[in-house]
Amino acid sequence: LLEVEHLNKSFGATSVLKDISFSLDEGHSVAIIGSSGSGKTTLLRCLNFLETPGAGRITVAGETLYDGTAVTDEHALRQKRLHFGLVFQSFNLFPQYTALENVTLAVKLREPSKSKWAAIDAHGLELLERMGLADRAGHYPHQLSGGQQQRVAIARALALSPDVLCFDEPTSALDPELTGEVLKVIRSLADQHTTMVIVTHEMAFARDVADEVIFMDGGVIVEKGPAREVIDHPREERTRQFLARYA
Ligand code: ATP
Repeated sequence: LLEVEHLNKSFGATSVLKDISFSLDEGHSVAIIGSSGSGKTTLLRCLNFLETPGAGRITVAGETLYDGTAVTDEHALRQKRLHFGLVFQSFNLFPQYTALENVTLAVKLREPSKSKWAAIDAHGLELLERMGLADRAGHYPHQLSGGQQQRVAIARALALSPDVLCFDEPTSALDPELTGEVLKVIRSLADQHTTMVIVTHEMAFARDVADEVIFMDGGVIVEKGPAREVIDHPREERTRQFLARYA
């Protein structure tokens, strides 16, 4: 479903992504692990067209979204972004809108016919229900815990039915006792075969939930393979050293 080939990205003279290639089958999930500064967030931002890569190719569902030529047209960018949903570390909900409004806002902006808005609201409620938040639809972000806010953010990302759902360290801004409820939701999405790219520091979660793991260091993919194989039996010394810090 997703094919990334020879992706490169530099900020000025600093090369942050170097020849990144991987593919992801429909219904599979990949966890991207690696130390701070290894380029994980930049990779996600390139996939979501929040950064323009310098070279390479990105193909989703047979459609080439990026072929090495920078995309500058705003309309074209918006269309390409629709293939991906992104859940940030810091939730980024709109504080002035309720949970349900946060989930449905972007969908309604794309649907000028107000007669369809009832169906959009119904779908939004259904997504909140899947996140275990049916009774929080009318709450504002400040009335919700961090874990609840992050689950609203996941529902919002799902509302536009992306081909690939991306997570950038979805639990790193949460207190440990709230981490579990968010990981549980992501685990249930994996069980329902949602195609996902998950940047995470939760090694046990990566091992148990993702199909594949990619270990990045210094802007390159050092090792990739089936999740359990990479986490339990890393082939590369650099992967071993990284994982030893989490043991
Ligand atoms: P973390 O786990 O801390 O989020 P990361 O693996 O996601 O780290 P990135 O955030 O992708 O790493 O950063 C990779 C490198 O790119 C870092 O050296 C960072 O300083 C640099 N970088 C990221 N964004 C920019 C930018 N907008 N301008 C210049 N350098 C940047």
